[in-house]
Amino acid sequence: MNIGELCSLAMQLGCEVKTNEPLSAHTTFKVGGYCEAFIDISSSDALRRLICEAKASFINFCILGNGSNVIFDDRGYSGVVFHIGSMMSDIELLEGGRIKALAGAGLNRVCTFACDNSLSGLEFAYGIPGSVGGAVYMNAGAYNGEIKDVLAEVDVLDLSDLSIRTLKRENNGFSMGYRDTSFMHSGLIILSAVFELESGDKSEIRAKMDDLIGRRKAKQPLEYPSAGSTFKRPEGYYAGKLIQDSGLRGYTVGGAQVSEKHCGFVVNKGGATSEDILSIISHIQKKVFSDSGVELECEIRYIPYE
Ligand code: FAD
Repeated sequence: MNIGELCSLAMQLGCEVKTNEPLSAHTTFKVGGYCEAFIDISSSDALRRLICEAKASFINFCILGNGSNVIFDDRGYSGVVFHIGSMMSDIELLEGGRIKALAGAGLNRVCTFACDNSLSGLEFAYGIPGSVGGAVYMNAGAYNGEIKDVLAEVDVLDLSDLSIRTLKRENNGFSMGYRDTSFMHSGLIILSAVFELESGDKSEIRAKMDDLIGRRKAKQPLEYPSAGSTFKRPEGYYAGKLIQDSGLRGYTVGGAQVSEKHCGFVVNKGGATSEDILSIISHIQKKVFSDSGVELECEIRYIPYE
């Protein structure tokens, strides 16, 4: 099977297909060249079938959620991007304060759904612009909360044997640490997640969410495209402070810049390329290491051309 035939199959399976699609349109950094095909996945079974065919035909593929933590190469992606987004985004209330969300559901929608149902525990995530799949994969977190605190179950597609399985926290089905998860190391695609929450007061939950979104707006350069914090927080330090202390506030390469508002963010001031961003990241790492001895680890995932 070639990519054209894979795209025809995807359409038969109810997916939406675009060919020669600019990836800059699908990432919050607004950079990246073109991919050969961009397929909006309609269901878990469709994804399984397409991956089965792609693997058998040695077609390159990658998984994209909301694109808020990735940088694609300026040359784009030589293969197929499987996008798990709005076509796989149902959210359902289960018994016992549990919410099940498909991987393509926006995290903010899940937070609002929890609030509407007087369920507390996901407030910290309000404002993180990821999908449920991306948030679980990254163990997204903020304001002293992390996805791992509320994640009870995950349905996954195993790339090795294409089985679909449910992994449960109570059986140690997955492990999650600071911006590090077993999903990153195991070739598992997240299809859905069950969050276990506590009953709470709707207006208090809403007030906490509003407060956190207000703090984000005040501190983060949300007016420019970015992928959020560029680096993981090094133990005992704040990445933004180290970068500022190295005199890199406003440091610019092409259209990319160390944010003047928050040095922990690299932003696209207009017309940035992936190369601009990668070059800033590498410069920051070298300068901060030589000034303070601290190694900054990039949090954003770079997806190579092939
Ligand atoms: P993507 O960027 O699409 O993908 C990220 C990685 O996950 C890729 O490797 C991709 O292949 C993989 N992936 C995506 N979906 C799946 C899936 N279903 N199965 C398997 N792998 C998958 N992050 C935080 O943790 N805390 C914050 O406070 C925060 N604030 C941010 C603020 C801004 C303004 C921005 C732009 C980003 C911020 N982020 C933050 C980063 C980002 O939103 C999170 O990492 C988010 O969880 C990424 O989700 P996504 O759906 O966009 O993933």
